[in-house]
Amino acid sequence: MASVELKGLSKHYGAAVAVDDVSLRVEHGQLVCLLGPSGCGKTTTLRLIAGFIEPSAGEIEVGGKVLSSPSRTVPPEGRKMSMIFQSYALWPHMTVAENVAYGLKIRKLDRATIDSKLKAILSTARLEALAERYPGELSGGQQQRVSLARALVVEPETLLLDEPLSNLDANLREEMRFEIRRLHDQYRYTTVYVTHDQAEAMTTADLIAVMNKGKVEQLGPPEEIYARPRSEFVARFIGGSNVLAAKAIDDSRISVAGSVLRTIGRPLVANRPVAVSVRQHEIAIALESPPSGMENHLHGTVTRQVFLGSTRDYTVMLDDATELRVTAPPGQNIAAGQSVWLHLPAEQCRALAEE
Ligand code: ADP
Ligand code: MG
Repeated sequence: MASVELKGLSKHYGAAVAVDDVSLRVEHGQLVCLLGPSGCGKTTTLRLIAGFIEPSAGEIEVGGKVLSSPSRTVPPEGRKMSMIFQSYALWPHMTVAENVAYGLKIRKLDRATIDSKLKAILSTARLEALAERYPGELSGGQQQRVSLARALVVEPETLLLDEPLSNLDANLREEMRFEIRRLHDQYRYTTVYVTHDQAEAMTTADLIAVMNKGKVEQLGPPEEIYARPRSEFVARFIGGSNVLAAKAIDDSRISVAGSVLRTIGRPLVANRPVAVSVRQHEIAIALESPPSGMENHLHGTVTRQVFLGSTRDYTVMLDDATELRVTAPPGQNIAAGQSVWLHLPAEQCRALAEE
Protein backbone atom coordinates (compact mmCIF):
# COMPACT_ATOMS: atom_id res chain seq x y z
CA MET A 1 0.00 0.00 0.00
CA ALA A 2 1.62 3.23 -1.13
CA SER A 3 -0.06 5.98 0.78
CA VAL A 4 2.08 9.12 0.81
CA GLU A 5 2.19 11.26 3.92
CA LEU A 6 3.94 14.59 4.36
CA LYS A 7 4.42 15.58 7.98
CA GLY A 8 5.41 19.16 8.78
CA LEU A 9 7.52 19.25 5.64
CA SER A 10 9.69 22.33 5.05
CA LYS A 11 12.43 23.24 2.60
CA HIS A 12 14.58 26.33 3.05
CA TYR A 13 17.10 27.79 0.63
CA GLY A 14 19.12 30.15 2.79
CA ALA A 15 16.61 32.62 4.16
CA ALA A 16 14.03 31.75 1.48
CA VAL A 17 11.30 29.30 2.42
CA ALA A 18 10.16 27.27 -0.61
CA VAL A 19 7.96 24.81 1.33
CA ASP A 20 6.64 25.84 4.72
CA ASP A 21 5.35 23.23 7.16
CA VAL A 22 3.20 21.20 4.76
CA SER A 23 1.21 18.27 6.13
CA LEU A 24 -0.80 16.20 3.67
CA ARG A 25 -1.90 12.61 3.34
CA VAL A 26 -2.53 10.95 -0.02
CA GLU A 27 -4.30 7.60 0.36
CA HIS A 28 -3.31 4.62 -1.74
CA GLY A 29 -4.81 4.98 -5.22
CA GLN A 30 -5.80 8.61 -4.80
CA LEU A 31 -4.92 11.43 -7.16
CA VAL A 32 -4.09 14.65 -5.35
CA CYS A 33 -3.40 17.92 -7.18
CA LEU A 34 -1.09 20.55 -5.78
CA LEU A 35 -2.64 23.68 -7.27
CA GLY A 36 -1.23 27.18 -6.96
CA PRO A 37 0.46 30.07 -8.74
CA SER A 38 4.03 30.02 -9.98
CA GLY A 39 6.58 30.08 -7.16
CA CYS A 40 4.25 28.73 -4.44
CA GLY A 41 6.39 25.63 -3.84
CA LYS A 42 4.71 22.93 -5.94
CA THR A 43 7.79 21.64 -7.75
CA THR A 44 9.88 21.72 -4.59
CA THR A 45 7.23 19.62 -2.80
CA LEU A 46 7.23 17.11 -5.65
CA ARG A 47 11.04 16.92 -5.73
CA LEU A 48 11.01 16.29 -1.98
CA ILE A 49 8.55 13.42 -2.49
CA ALA A 50 10.69 12.00 -5.32
CA GLY A 51 13.81 12.13 -3.14
CA PHE A 52 15.78 14.54 -5.36
CA ILE A 53 16.18 16.92 -2.43
CA GLU A 54 16.23 16.59 1.38
CA PRO A 55 13.77 18.33 3.66
CA SER A 56 15.00 21.05 6.04
CA ALA A 57 12.40 19.84 8.53
CA GLY A 58 9.64 17.27 8.67
CA GLU A 59 9.24 13.82 7.14
CA ILE A 60 7.81 11.96 4.18
CA GLU A 61 6.37 8.50 4.73
CA VAL A 62 5.40 6.16 1.93
CA GLY A 63 3.39 3.10 2.87
CA GLY A 64 4.13 3.90 6.52
CA LYS A 65 7.93 3.94 6.05
CA VAL A 66 9.99 7.11 6.48
CA LEU A 67 11.73 7.80 3.15
CA SER A 68 12.74 11.42 3.79
CA SER A 69 13.84 13.26 6.89
CA PRO A 70 16.56 15.87 7.49
CA SER A 71 18.93 13.17 8.70
CA ARG A 72 18.17 10.44 6.16
CA THR A 73 16.75 10.55 2.65
CA VAL A 74 16.36 7.48 0.44
CA PRO A 75 17.56 8.41 -3.08
CA PRO A 76 15.11 8.46 -6.03
CA GLU A 77 16.26 5.09 -7.40
CA GLY A 78 15.41 3.46 -4.06
CA ARG A 79 11.76 4.60 -4.31
CA LYS A 80 9.10 2.94 -6.42
CA MET A 81 8.16 6.21 -8.05
CA SER A 82 7.96 7.60 -11.57
CA MET A 83 8.16 11.31 -12.20
CA ILE A 84 6.99 13.13 -15.34
CA PHE A 85 8.37 16.57 -16.08
CA GLN A 86 6.99 19.52 -17.96
CA SER A 87 9.49 18.85 -20.75
CA TYR A 88 8.86 15.25 -21.76
CA ALA A 89 12.54 14.32 -21.72
CA LEU A 90 12.19 11.57 -24.34
CA TRP A 91 15.34 10.13 -25.87
CA PRO A 92 15.45 11.52 -29.42
CA HIS A 93 17.51 8.65 -30.85
CA MET A 94 15.11 5.95 -29.63
CA THR A 95 11.77 5.00 -31.16
CA VAL A 96 8.54 5.26 -29.17
CA ALA A 97 8.72 1.54 -28.36
CA GLU A 98 12.36 1.81 -27.27
CA ASN A 99 11.65 4.86 -25.12
CA VAL A 100 8.77 3.12 -23.39
CA ALA A 101 10.58 -0.21 -22.93
CA TYR A 102 13.79 1.36 -21.59
CA GLY A 103 12.78 1.23 -17.92
CA LEU A 104 11.91 -2.47 -18.26
CA LYS A 105 15.23 -3.26 -19.95
CA ILE A 106 17.32 -1.67 -17.21
CA ARG A 107 15.33 -3.76 -14.73
CA LYS A 108 16.57 -6.77 -16.69
CA LEU A 109 13.18 -8.34 -17.34
CA ASP A 110 13.08 -11.12 -19.89
CA ARG A 111 12.20 -10.46 -23.52
CA ALA A 112 8.71 -12.02 -23.41
CA THR A 113 7.68 -10.07 -20.30
CA ILE A 114 9.00 -6.84 -21.78
CA ASP A 115 7.08 -7.45 -25.01
CA SER A 116 3.79 -8.17 -23.30
CA LYS A 117 4.04 -5.18 -20.93
CA LEU A 118 5.06 -2.93 -23.80
CA LYS A 119 2.16 -4.08 -25.95
CA ALA A 120 -0.34 -3.49 -23.17
CA ILE A 121 0.81 0.03 -22.33
CA LEU A 122 1.10 1.10 -25.98
CA SER A 123 -2.48 0.01 -26.45
CA THR A 124 -3.71 1.80 -23.32
CA ALA A 125 -1.92 5.00 -24.29
CA ARG A 126 -3.15 4.67 -27.90
CA LEU A 127 0.35 4.59 -29.27
CA GLU A 128 0.39 1.27 -31.17
CA ALA A 129 0.43 2.90 -34.59
CA LEU A 130 3.31 5.16 -33.59
CA ALA A 131 5.57 2.53 -32.00
CA GLU A 132 8.33 2.75 -34.61
CA ARG A 133 8.42 6.55 -34.89
CA TYR A 134 11.03 8.80 -33.30
CA PRO A 135 10.04 11.61 -30.87
CA GLY A 136 10.89 14.22 -33.53
CA GLU A 137 8.14 12.73 -35.70
CA LEU A 138 5.42 13.15 -33.06
CA SER A 139 3.09 16.00 -32.04
CA GLY A 140 3.30 17.47 -28.53
CA GLY A 141 0.31 15.44 -27.34
CA GLN A 142 1.73 12.23 -28.73
CA GLN A 143 5.08 12.91 -27.03
CA GLN A 144 3.24 13.49 -23.78
CA ARG A 145 1.44 10.16 -24.14
CA VAL A 146 4.81 8.47 -24.69
CA SER A 147 6.18 10.03 -21.53
CA LEU A 148 3.11 8.85 -19.62
CA ALA A 149 3.45 5.34 -21.04
CA ARG A 150 7.13 5.29 -20.13
CA ALA A 151 6.35 6.28 -16.55
CA LEU A 152 3.48 3.80 -16.16
CA VAL A 153 5.03 0.73 -17.77
CA VAL A 154 7.41 0.17 -14.84
CA GLU A 155 4.36 -0.06 -12.53
CA PRO A 156 5.46 2.51 -9.97
CA GLU A 157 3.68 2.62 -6.64
CA THR A 158 3.60 6.38 -6.90
CA LEU A 159 3.31 8.63 -9.91
CA LEU A 160 4.51 12.23 -9.72
CA LEU A 161 3.56 14.70 -12.45
CA ASP A 162 4.90 18.24 -12.71
CA GLU A 163 2.75 20.46 -14.98
CA PRO A 164 2.64 17.65 -17.53
CA LEU A 165 0.33 19.47 -19.96
CA SER A 166 1.70 22.98 -19.96
CA ASN A 167 3.53 22.60 -23.27
CA LEU A 168 0.38 21.60 -25.15
CA ASP A 169 -2.07 23.87 -26.93
CA ALA A 170 -5.45 24.54 -25.34
CA ASN A 171 -7.56 21.89 -27.14
CA LEU A 172 -5.07 19.14 -26.62
CA ARG A 173 -4.60 20.09 -23.00
CA GLU A 174 -8.29 19.59 -22.39
CA GLU A 175 -8.29 16.20 -24.08
CA MET A 176 -5.19 15.05 -22.20
CA ARG A 177 -6.76 15.93 -18.83
CA PHE A 178 -9.42 13.28 -19.46
CA GLU A 179 -6.75 10.92 -20.72
CA ILE A 180 -4.72 11.24 -17.52
CA ARG A 181 -7.82 10.65 -15.41
CA ARG A 182 -8.76 7.64 -17.55
CA LEU A 183 -5.28 6.12 -17.10
CA HIS A 184 -5.48 6.83 -13.39
CA ASP A 185 -8.85 5.09 -13.09
CA GLN A 186 -7.41 2.11 -14.90
CA TYR A 187 -4.15 1.77 -12.92
CA ARG A 188 -4.97 3.45 -9.60
CA TYR A 189 -1.46 4.53 -8.77
CA THR A 190 -1.10 6.92 -5.89
CA THR A 191 -0.57 10.14 -7.81
CA VAL A 192 0.60 13.65 -6.95
CA TYR A 193 -0.15 16.03 -9.81
CA VAL A 194 1.25 19.55 -9.85
CA THR A 195 -0.50 22.29 -11.85
CA HIS A 196 -1.26 26.01 -11.83
CA ASP A 197 -4.39 25.38 -13.92
CA GLN A 198 -7.65 25.24 -12.03
CA ALA A 199 -9.60 23.36 -14.72
CA GLU A 200 -6.85 20.77 -14.95
CA ALA A 201 -7.02 20.18 -11.21
CA MET A 202 -10.83 20.04 -11.19
CA THR A 203 -10.88 17.46 -14.01
CA THR A 204 -8.22 15.13 -12.69
CA ALA A 205 -8.15 15.31 -8.90
CA ASP A 206 -9.82 13.38 -6.09
CA LEU A 207 -8.44 16.03 -3.74
CA ILE A 208 -7.00 19.46 -4.39
CA ALA A 209 -4.40 21.08 -2.14
CA VAL A 210 -4.38 24.80 -2.89
CA MET A 211 -0.89 26.14 -2.23
CA ASN A 212 0.21 29.70 -1.53
CA LYS A 213 3.66 30.85 -0.42
CA GLY A 214 4.89 27.40 0.48
CA LYS A 215 1.81 26.44 2.51
CA VAL A 216 -1.31 24.39 1.81
CA GLU A 217 -4.12 26.93 2.28
CA GLN A 218 -6.97 24.51 1.78
CA LEU A 219 -7.32 20.79 1.11
CA GLY A 220 -10.52 19.18 -0.12
CA PRO A 221 -12.46 17.61 -2.98
CA PRO A 222 -12.80 19.93 -6.03
CA GLU A 223 -16.46 20.75 -5.36
CA GLU A 224 -15.81 21.72 -1.77
CA ILE A 225 -12.83 23.92 -2.63
CA TYR A 226 -14.93 25.64 -5.25
CA ALA A 227 -18.10 26.02 -3.21
CA ARG A 228 -16.55 26.85 0.16
CA PRO A 229 -13.24 28.66 -0.23
CA ARG A 230 -11.93 29.42 3.25
CA SER A 231 -9.55 32.25 2.46
CA GLU A 232 -9.41 35.28 0.19
CA PHE A 233 -6.54 33.69 -1.71
CA VAL A 234 -8.49 30.49 -2.44
CA ALA A 235 -11.64 32.45 -3.38
CA ARG A 236 -9.74 34.52 -5.92
CA PHE A 237 -7.58 31.72 -7.27
CA ILE A 238 -10.40 29.18 -7.73
CA GLY A 239 -13.21 30.18 -10.02
CA GLY A 240 -12.81 33.91 -10.34
CA SER A 241 -14.44 35.33 -7.24
CA ASN A 242 -14.72 39.02 -6.50
CA VAL A 243 -13.60 39.76 -2.97
CA LEU A 244 -15.22 42.79 -1.32
CA ALA A 245 -13.53 44.42 1.65
CA ALA A 246 -16.21 45.75 3.98
CA LYS A 247 -17.25 46.39 7.54
CA ALA A 248 -19.83 44.30 9.39
CA ILE A 249 -23.06 45.99 10.50
CA ASP A 250 -24.23 43.02 12.56
CA ASP A 251 -23.76 39.22 12.52
CA SER A 252 -24.92 38.72 8.91
CA ARG A 253 -24.83 42.06 7.11
CA ILE A 254 -22.11 44.30 5.74
CA SER A 255 -22.02 47.80 4.36
CA VAL A 256 -20.55 48.24 0.85
CA ALA A 257 -20.56 51.47 -1.19
CA GLY A 258 -23.55 52.85 0.70
CA SER A 259 -25.66 49.68 0.38
CA VAL A 260 -26.37 46.75 2.66
CA LEU A 261 -25.40 43.19 1.74
CA ARG A 262 -26.65 40.17 3.62
CA THR A 263 -24.01 37.39 3.79
CA ILE A 264 -23.67 33.69 4.52
CA GLY A 265 -20.68 31.79 5.89
CA ARG A 266 -19.26 32.56 9.28
CA PRO A 267 -21.15 34.84 11.69
CA LEU A 268 -19.82 38.41 11.60
CA VAL A 269 -18.88 40.73 14.44
CA ALA A 270 -20.32 44.28 14.24
CA ASN A 271 -17.78 46.95 13.21
CA ARG A 272 -15.09 44.40 12.36
CA PRO A 273 -13.57 44.37 8.85
CA VAL A 274 -14.60 41.40 6.74
CA ALA A 275 -13.81 40.03 3.25
CA VAL A 276 -16.80 38.70 1.32
CA SER A 277 -16.45 36.65 -1.86
CA VAL A 278 -19.00 36.46 -4.65
CA ARG A 279 -18.49 34.79 -8.01
CA GLN A 280 -18.68 36.70 -11.25
CA HIS A 281 -21.49 34.63 -12.70
CA GLU A 282 -23.64 34.81 -9.54
CA ILE A 283 -24.08 38.57 -9.97
CA ALA A 284 -26.99 39.89 -12.05
CA ILE A 285 -26.63 43.20 -13.88
CA ALA A 286 -29.59 45.47 -14.80
CA LEU A 287 -30.34 49.02 -15.96
CA GLU A 288 -33.45 49.34 -13.77
CA SER A 289 -33.10 50.38 -10.13
CA PRO A 290 -34.56 48.00 -7.52
CA PRO A 291 -37.39 49.09 -5.19
CA SER A 292 -35.82 51.40 -2.60
CA GLY A 293 -34.52 49.78 0.59
CA MET A 294 -33.85 46.41 -1.09
CA GLU A 295 -30.81 44.66 0.36
CA ASN A 296 -28.08 43.10 -1.77
CA HIS A 297 -28.29 45.63 -4.62
CA LEU A 298 -25.29 47.82 -5.45
CA HIS A 299 -25.13 50.80 -7.77
CA GLY A 300 -22.25 51.28 -10.22
CA THR A 301 -21.09 52.23 -13.69
CA VAL A 302 -19.96 49.89 -16.47
CA THR A 303 -16.30 50.65 -17.21
CA ARG A 304 -15.61 47.85 -19.66
CA GLN A 305 -17.51 45.17 -21.52
CA VAL A 306 -16.15 42.25 -23.55
CA PHE A 307 -18.19 39.88 -25.72
CA LEU A 308 -16.82 36.35 -25.29
CA GLY A 309 -19.33 34.39 -27.39
CA SER A 310 -21.10 32.33 -24.73
CA THR A 311 -20.95 35.14 -22.14
CA ARG A 312 -20.37 38.85 -21.77
CA ASP A 313 -17.73 39.95 -19.29
CA TYR A 314 -18.36 43.26 -17.48
CA THR A 315 -16.23 45.40 -15.22
CA VAL A 316 -18.41 47.60 -13.03
CA MET A 317 -17.12 50.36 -10.78
CA LEU A 318 -19.16 50.81 -7.63
CA ASP A 319 -19.86 54.27 -6.18
CA ASP A 320 -16.90 53.80 -3.77
CA ALA A 321 -14.59 53.02 -6.76
CA THR A 322 -14.41 49.26 -5.99
CA GLU A 323 -14.32 47.25 -9.21
CA LEU A 324 -16.39 44.09 -9.64
CA ARG A 325 -16.29 41.58 -12.49
CA VAL A 326 -19.62 40.27 -13.71
CA THR A 327 -20.27 37.45 -16.17
CA ALA A 328 -23.63 37.99 -17.89
CA PRO A 329 -25.59 36.26 -20.68
CA PRO A 330 -24.28 37.28 -24.14
CA GLY A 331 -27.61 38.76 -25.20
CA GLN A 332 -27.54 41.35 -22.41
CA ASN A 333 -25.63 44.19 -24.05
CA ILE A 334 -24.98 47.23 -21.83
CA ALA A 335 -22.47 49.80 -23.08
CA ALA A 336 -19.52 51.17 -21.11
CA GLY A 337 -20.48 54.37 -19.27
CA GLN A 338 -24.02 53.18 -18.42
CA SER A 339 -25.32 53.40 -14.88
CA VAL A 340 -26.32 49.93 -13.63
CA TRP A 341 -27.60 48.03 -10.61
CA LEU A 342 -26.01 44.77 -9.51
CA HIS A 343 -27.87 42.09 -7.59
CA LEU A 344 -25.61 39.96 -5.37
CA PRO A 345 -27.87 37.24 -3.93
CA ALA A 346 -27.31 36.82 -0.18
CA GLU A 347 -26.75 33.06 -0.53
CA GLN A 348 -23.81 33.77 -2.86
CA CYS A 349 -22.11 36.37 -0.63
CA ARG A 350 -19.73 34.31 1.45
CA ALA A 351 -17.94 35.83 4.44
CA LEU A 352 -14.36 34.51 4.45
CA ALA A 353 -12.33 33.60 7.50
CA GLU A 354 -10.40 36.48 9.07
CA GLU A 355 -6.85 36.49 7.70
P1 ADP B 1 6.41 26.32 -8.23
O1 ADP B 1 6.76 24.97 -8.76
O2 ADP B 1 5.14 26.34 -7.43
O3 ADP B 1 6.39 27.36 -9.30
P2 ADP B 1 8.95 26.10 -6.85
O4 ADP B 1 8.76 24.96 -5.93
O5 ADP B 1 9.72 25.84 -8.09
O6 ADP B 1 7.55 26.76 -7.18
O7 ADP B 1 9.69 27.28 -6.07
C1 ADP B 1 9.22 27.77 -4.82
C2 ADP B 1 10.15 28.87 -4.34
O8 ADP B 1 11.42 28.34 -3.99
C3 ADP B 1 10.42 29.92 -5.40
O9 ADP B 1 10.47 31.17 -4.77
C4 ADP B 1 11.76 29.53 -5.95
O10 ADP B 1 12.46 30.63 -6.45
C5 ADP B 1 12.44 28.93 -4.73
N1 ADP B 1 13.42 27.89 -5.11
C6 ADP B 1 13.15 26.72 -5.71
N2 ADP B 1 14.25 25.99 -5.90
C7 ADP B 1 15.29 26.73 -5.41
C8 ADP B 1 16.71 26.53 -5.30
N3 ADP B 1 17.31 25.41 -5.73
N4 ADP B 1 17.43 27.51 -4.72
C9 ADP B 1 16.84 28.63 -4.27
N5 ADP B 1 15.52 28.89 -4.33
C10 ADP B 1 14.74 27.95 -4.89
MG1 MG C 1 7.04 24.36 -10.76
